[in-house]
Amino acid sequence: MKKCNLCNKPNKIHYRVKSTIHKDWIFSCKECWSVISKQYNYSYGGTRKSN
Ligand SMILES: [Zn+2]
Repeated sequence: MKKCNLCNKPNKIHYRVKSTIHKDWIFSCKECWSVISKQYNYSYGGTRKSN
């Protein structure tokens, strides 16, 4: 499993996102996504699935 770029917890699904704080694309887990999705300039760039 791949790791979340923010909390480093391994997970099967990550969301590719960026915001005004995270200016480059990062992969975040569902928990971190719920925080980033409320940030200014939030963008969603896809979902990454791993085994
Ligand atoms: Zn996370």
